[in-house]
Amino acid sequence: MQLSEMPEPLAADIGANVLARLRQMHLEALPRNYEVIYEALSGANPALVEAIAAIGQTPGQDAFDRMAERCLGRGRGDRIIETAHASMSLKLDEILLLLRSERSSREKYGEILDVTSQGLRARSTVSQDFLQKVASVMSSATDTALDSTRRVASTMQDKSSELEAVKAELEEYKKLSDTDALTGLANRRAFDRAMEGVYVDRREAMFGALVLADIDRFKPVNDKHGHPIGDRILQIVAAVFKASMSTNVTAARTGGEEFGVIVTGMSEKAVMDLAEEIRVTVEQTPFVNAKTGTDYGPITVSFGVCMASEAKGPDELYRKADRALYASKNGGRNRVTTHSDLKDGKFTKGWKLYSSN
Ligand code: GH3
Ligand code: MG
Ligand code: MG
Repeated sequence: MQLSEMPEPLAADIGANVLARLRQMHLEALPRNYEVIYEALSGANPALVEAIAAIGQTPGQDAFDRMAERCLGRGRGDRIIETAHASMSLKLDEILLLLRSERSSREKYGEILDVTSQGLRARSTVSQDFLQKVASVMSSATDTALDSTRRVASTMQDKSSELEAVKAELEEYKKLSDTDALTGLANRRAFDRAMEGVYVDRREAMFGALVLADIDRFKPVNDKHGHPIGDRILQIVAAVFKASMSTNVTAARTGGEEFGVIVTGMSEKAVMDLAEEIRVTVEQTPFVNAKTGTDYGPITVSFGVCMASEAKGPDELYRKADRALYASKNGGRNRVTTHSDLKDGKFTKGWKLYSSN
């Protein structure tokens, strides 16, 4: 169950319990720790509860991380970002509470000052006894106010370093959550965000483009040599895409054996040349097992290009580049097709320019 789906009081209750439990275990209130304890306390994962019980009262961060990886598996990055949000809100609530209590103690101090000064003004002569009483009330009220201010300052300092830690961890996870684990390229999520960016500035969109690419007949390669070899090939192909990256070129793995390259500030000719260069480099890369001499190649890739100016937004741009890619596949694979050369989804100019056969 997500935090946002819970009834308010229950969510707040669990939040406080999570923090208390983290303190007991001598663990920092980091999002990833918060997430694990939160999931255990919310009752959704009995195996996790057992695992937490099994690692002892003060397991240390490393052992706790290993246990969490074992129990929660993949996809933690996304959940961490969600729960970090909850953890941050909780800390902000604590700070607000503190500030409110500080305000009320200041108001009390103000009242004491007010009453005392009225008392002093009301008398024309004052006894030493009375002055002593006033001094003692004032001194105790001032001490209380100072104590409260010091407490606020030190707690605020604690909270602020806790928030800094949460922030640093979130930044680290943000990087991870935008990266494809197998190839190190940007992943689909980062790609979708970059696609939205293409149309933010209309003038830039004039020279933006999308290149979609898909490895040819990859399934038989996997079937014949196995998935781990397929993965290795994917990594090598991805490295070619990565080498093409620059300030104007962002390459992503958008799906299984599919890649997307977002280009800015280039003419159609320059984009076609870029795709062609990647195509030729992959085609010429030897995919040979150095130990056994097994040749897994040749590996080839088909490309579809569409200039951003040919579409009104990211969805249409993607559809049109995909149509051009489809035409490359239909035309015999291992080639680059641009959408502007298609008519009714079919290639009209022959395949000479950007094809190896
Ligand atoms: P086409 O030329 O039409 O693209 O043929 P294809 O065989 O590449 O196309 P298809 O979409 O039928 O198959 C894609 C295959 O890519 C399926 C799967 O075997 C392989 N694949 C997808 N993702 C991964 C991955 O992460 N690792 C590995 N090893 N293989 C993958
Ligand atoms: Mg595919
Ligand atoms: Mg394919």
